[in-house]
Amino acid sequence: MSLDIDVIESMNMDRVAPFYFSRKKDEQYLITNDFGYYSYLSPWEFDDFCSSKLTWDKFIELDEKLFIKNDTYTDRAITAYNKKNSFLAYGPTLHMIITTLRCNHKCQYCHAAVAPMTAKNLDMTRETAEKVVDTIFYTSAPSLTIEFQWWESLVNYDIVQFIVEYASMKAQALQKNLTFALVSNLSLMDEDKLKWLLDHGVDICTSLDGDKKTHNWQRTYKEGDSHEKVVHWINRITAEQELRWKKGYKIGALATWTKPGLANYRNIVDSYIELWLTTIGLRWLNPYGFAAAERDTLEYTLDEYFEFYKNSMDYILEKNKEWIFLKEMMSMVYLGKILNNTDSGFMDVRSPSGIAIGGVAYNYDGGVYASDESRMLGRMGIHDFLMTPLLATGEETYRAMANSEVTKISVQSSTLDGLPWYVDHVYKPYLGVDLIYAFTQHGNVFSNFAKDDKTRIQISMLDYLFDKLRDPENEKIFRSWIRR
Ligand code: SF4
Repeated sequence: MSLDIDVIESMNMDRVAPFYFSRKKDEQYLITNDFGYYSYLSPWEFDDFCSSKLTWDKFIELDEKLFIKNDTYTDRAITAYNKKNSFLAYGPTLHMIITTLRCNHKCQYCHAAVAPMTAKNLDMTRETAEKVVDTIFYTSAPSLTIEFQWWESLVNYDIVQFIVEYASMKAQALQKNLTFALVSNLSLMDEDKLKWLLDHGVDICTSLDGDKKTHNWQRTYKEGDSHEKVVHWINRITAEQELRWKKGYKIGALATWTKPGLANYRNIVDSYIELWLTTIGLRWLNPYGFAAAERDTLEYTLDEYFEFYKNSMDYILEKNKEWIFLKEMMSMVYLGKILNNTDSGFMDVRSPSGIAIGGVAYNYDGGVYASDESRMLGRMGIHDFLMTPLLATGEETYRAMANSEVTKISVQSSTLDGLPWYVDHVYKPYLGVDLIYAFTQHGNVFSNFAKDDKTRIQISMLDYLFDKLRDPENEKIFRSWIRR
């Protein structure tokens, strides 16, 4: 939105620090800045702000939020900018390892990409696993997370165990902080595996697509009742962790939303509450890995998704007002930036994107991809985001990753300061671009602001959150989400 010429002429640039703004439907102005601060101004306050004639109370607020320049502004701005962008200080922290392409499920949104249980040639070998760990420990981050990603990691359990033991040894020798997460459908879990994984500090996450009917329809499992198994293990893992003195522990569970699920959102949210889960994700379904025939049944439009997001969030807020604590994962990413002025480093929603520099994926065959979605594209025969194969040593592989064209173009194309329309948008401090999505939808890694559905989703979510934040009761609930 452009400023009135009189306002521009009267602006006192010595006092007014750089800011972004937008006029909302009720004529109030929302202003934001690169540190993540925001404020609402009435039209006359906005004029007063631009010409440095604010009332004392508003002046104090905007001064604290770094909208006003004074003698201490530069020092405070440097500290705030560092805090907001601390994830830029080092290389990849998240290392996703795909130990196999095999899986015993054939979920509707994944089955085109998954390999049958007989395809043992699609398992990671011990030699590859060793080189992967050597590479991970050559990267520069002081804290590392190794995540065993889909497809079903428990199918190649020996290699999971090898990686955990070898990486733990290296972490101790090199004095690095190391955490493990294992993403699993839990159908192959048993008591021995559970004990071993928890004894070795492996955090377990799973997929729960909601109530029994929705879950079993989406997550096809010929050998039994997928929902029954996952619910059993969610309860069992929570109980076992509590026994180990992790009071209040909740296993992480993710839902994948398809078209039939959108209308069923109340039942799905209720199914999370019944299991005492504290986080639910209202994630948009990425268009990778479907069989073409499934698209019509599973996919939805942007408007359908956003209607679902609003309804589900209203329902979740309603539950929170009844003292049922349930938070929404994607909203928390934005709320952390808005209310805490920090960036969680969520890979798709930061500038530059975490692709190649924040999180990388090691395929079963040793291909190092810029992200898990890039690796999924590789499975579809598109290898544009393969950074390098594993080389002779960890050092060589890491150098090849860091210097790859994929890394350079990923950073360049996802830094909002260089992207038209993003660069001066009121939500710039909170947005990120998903360049893999832009590439698959429009054949160009540089996201086109006007055409990118993922950008429109983020803007709609932020409109919703900023609107809700104007009610103090909602703000209190949102603050509790990011505090706990
Ligand atoms: S989504 Fe997960 S459980 Fe389902 S088929 Fe794919 S890898 Fe297997």
